[in-house]
Amino acid sequence: MGEPSASSAAARFIASIPGEELASALLEWFAPEARPMPWRKPKPEDTPLAEHAYGIWISESMLQQTQVTTVIPYWERWMAKWPDVASLAAASEEEVLLMWEGLGYYNRARNLLKAARKVMELHGGIFPTEHGELLKLPGIGPYTAGAICSIACNQPCPIVDGNIIRLLSRLFTLSATPQAGSPKPEELLWQISESLVQAAARLQYPQSCSAFNQAMMDMGARLCIPANPLCLTCPLQRHCKAFKEGSQSQYPQRPPRPLLTPREDTALLVRNGQGQILLQKRTLAGRNHGFWQLPLMEETPLQKALEAFEPPGLLLASRKPLATLRHHITCYRITLKVYEGKATQGLALGEHLRFVSGKELAAIPLTGSQRKILRKIL
Ligand code: SF4
Repeated sequence: MGEPSASSAAARFIASIPGEELASALLEWFAPEARPMPWRKPKPEDTPLAEHAYGIWISESMLQQTQVTTVIPYWERWMAKWPDVASLAAASEEEVLLMWEGLGYYNRARNLLKAARKVMELHGGIFPTEHGELLKLPGIGPYTAGAICSIACNQPCPIVDGNIIRLLSRLFTLSATPQAGSPKPEELLWQISESLVQAAARLQYPQSCSAFNQAMMDMGARLCIPANPLCLTCPLQRHCKAFKEGSQSQYPQRPPRPLLTPREDTALLVRNGQGQILLQKRTLAGRNHGFWQLPLMEETPLQKALEAFEPPGLLLASRKPLATLRHHITCYRITLKVYEGKATQGLALGEHLRFVSGKELAAIPLTGSQRKILRKIL
């Protein structure tokens, strides 16, 4: 006999997991402990499932990379303005970005709008509740599709995100490097999550798949936290391998982070005779398009920017920076310096380059870094 195949080794491991026991313990803990969130209110009987699923979709999109307490007021404002797919699909991108301002990762907002328009086109405005159909919509990956199907529709669909990776990695002391005879670590996590939610589905418990996945999320956010997990109050403690070994801090194992590349950006603050300031709209496809900013040259320190500032028609008025902001984006460690600039007759104002007053600024979508540096200056 040769090496066991990856699938058979994983199948044996998963079969050895006491799924129903784990699911029961988690559901028992969750019932009195569930954090109140407006999207968790039970679906009123007369609300169609698709409408309930729409609210869960919005909440799950906002919750990616963002804390629950931050999301709640955003979700409430969003649902008051766009309570269903049709109202969202009719919104403009600028309105959606403005509503999203402060949550970051703005492609999530753009994708919500694109997906709403696609739902109008493909499903007549009825938000789909089938996993495969959800995956066809922009911005919806396996995690979000699983969350919508399980939380809103009680389907036994798995979910895996950062919190759940941490929880399952500790529970089963999972390695982050592929092991001989095992599937890739991420694939294994999805298989474990699926076997657990299926075990929950077999229990005599109301809305067990919905409650089980939410319980996993809450466990990862409240007990099985990154530093100093609260193992003494954990309902899974007696099953947890990391707790038995005292090795909680070693999980989840992570490959080393790539180093951040330093980068300098140069921006100009240009005022007209009425004290309004010049802003440009990001038009290229990619990060933050549709947002407004001070005229900015990325990856361009002052010396290089002076050779030919873009857009043409702008000049440097002083070499002393008005403000400096240090921030991170993806793999960059950015130093943004803003200098005083002036406009010449060659400046071509238009739809993507215009002067705005201080009052107007509040109604224009700006990225977090731009709003911060403007606050410093103004
Ligand atoms: Fe996490 Fe501790 Fe519970 Fe294990 S016992 S799952 S490490 S909180």
